[in-house]
Amino acid sequence: HKKIENLKASVRNIPDFPIPGIQFKDVTTLFQSPQNLKDLTEVLTDLYKEKGITKVVGIESRGFIMGPILALNMNAGFIPIRKPGKLPADTIEESYEKEYGIDTIQIHKDSLNPEDVVLIHDDLLATGGTMLAAYKLIKRMGVKKIYVNFIIELETLEGRKLFPEDVEVEAIIKYD
Ligand code: IMP
Repeated sequence: HKKIENLKASVRNIPDFPIPGIQFKDVTTLFQSPQNLKDLTEVLTDLYKEKGITKVVGIESRGFIMGPILALNMNAGFIPIRKPGKLPADTIEESYEKEYGIDTIQIHKDSLNPEDVVLIHDDLLATGGTMLAAYKLIKRMGVKKIYVNFIIELETLEGRKLFPEDVEVEAIIKYD
């Protein structure tokens, strides 16, 4: 609807960033306007407020912007997933293949428990590699349920196909 159209119009497209041929979606322009920030928060919160979310997991680093706002709105805790060597206590990790080489993400071992209903949040779904690794990592920790959320989905890359059918994957703004 209108709110989502306005949000979509506020995303900035940066051609050839970080390398030639990539159309980079810049979400920082979406957060600049207080009205957009409020609308985005409302739309996201409405999606999950009845789901009994106990922890929001945000993926470094753009998942750290809306993640804590959502957590606060849903009376849930916030847990960061980070690049290797950043989290100070015991971690578990998951590695995944990127276009050029291997990437690894980590989470604190003691950050989730079997009773948790988890919402994993990141800014954008492209190939899905990053979020799938996060999903697998949290799956290994044995929580009650996992939801997957993005602000933006690049639909042509079909990243959502990587996830098992029973996983609810939601995105607010879509590009094809
Ligand atoms: P994927 O693993 O291919 O789905 O890439 C998603 C990850 O890369 C997310 O953490 C995004 O923040 C980042 N990313 C990829 N493309 C873009 C973009 O166009 N704008 C912002 N972030 C992007």
